[in-house]
Amino acid sequence: MTPLVIPIFIAHQGCPQRCIFCDQDTITGNARLDDEPATFGKVKEIIEQWLKRPRRENKNGVQVAFYGGSFTGLSRQRQTELLGSVTSFIEDGEVDSIRISTRPDYIDEASVALLKEYSVSIVELGIQSLDAGVLEESVRGHSVQHSEDAVRLLRESGFKVGAQLMCGLPGDTTLKLMATAKRVAALRPDFVRIYPTVVIKGSGLEKMYRNGNYRPLSLPMAIALSCRMKTIFDCYNIKVVRMGLQPSEELAGKVVAGPYHPAFGELVLSRMLYKKTRKALRSKIQVKSLTVAAADESIFRGPDNVSRKKLAALGLLDGVELVFAKEQPRNSVLVC
Ligand code: SF4
Repeated sequence: MTPLVIPIFIAHQGCPQRCIFCDQDTITGNARLDDEPATFGKVKEIIEQWLKRPRRENKNGVQVAFYGGSFTGLSRQRQTELLGSVTSFIEDGEVDSIRISTRPDYIDEASVALLKEYSVSIVELGIQSLDAGVLEESVRGHSVQHSEDAVRLLRESGFKVGAQLMCGLPGDTTLKLMATAKRVAALRPDFVRIYPTVVIKGSGLEKMYRNGNYRPLSLPMAIALSCRMKTIFDCYNIKVVRMGLQPSEELAGKVVAGPYHPAFGELVLSRMLYKKTRKALRSKIQVKSLTVAAADESIFRGPDNVSRKKLAALGLLDGVELVFAKEQPRNSVLVC
């Protein structure tokens, strides 16, 4: 179970430049501070409002998340202002943890010490790729070494580390992407987010796309690549907590091209379960029943029942009783 997350949006603050694919106002949509800068008072007000909302008891506590910019790229004074606004809530036991997002090249001993002082426990790094050429074409402005050093330093300092990765960046290939996933997995972050690159109105990528210098991934390709990346992280027992951009009307209206889908993560899980089921059915000579977790029924079926239809077309469901059982562990299949 995830904690109650109180989002504090700091769009592009602390960023030294715009990465070619990025427009945080659009990507993160609805969690904005009504265009007011996040000040000490404003952050306190937002936290108080969230805490007053009626909610179910959440055993995983309450987390304040500063995201949408490069937190440790802010001046020390701004960082202490923002983090300090959460201190009293932590002392009163109303907030349990703080999460920040930042760039790998803005992590060093000094920034880590400041985050520790203010009880930040989770740091998400926009790694995006571990290929030097892809980073350069994406105008990231940092190196592969920065990412590797940042993950190591944060882990050694006791932080939980999240790695944000993208597929379909300019200059990327399947080989480079899989190498990135394996290298990131070897760094052992605590969790990963996978975002397919979409062309957003007003971004540098839109210009590249319109000039014919960038071709986005198709939706099926982005799903297949994300599926392969997730499989790598699953092998290392690293949680993939999100696949696909947070859907919103604002985002949907500003996607110029690329593999945007509001249920992208479900489509990836659906493909993974389809492949697992196909393999399990093919591994037995005679199958009487196929059991899938009841909670996975829609993922198993896929959009418009496509996965089931494909299995049937292969003749793998002939004479097979399909069972959706509550007790079957999620994301698993049992063939008898
Ligand atoms: S991707 Fe991250 S570092 Fe780049 S512009 Fe967006 S928020 Fe800033």
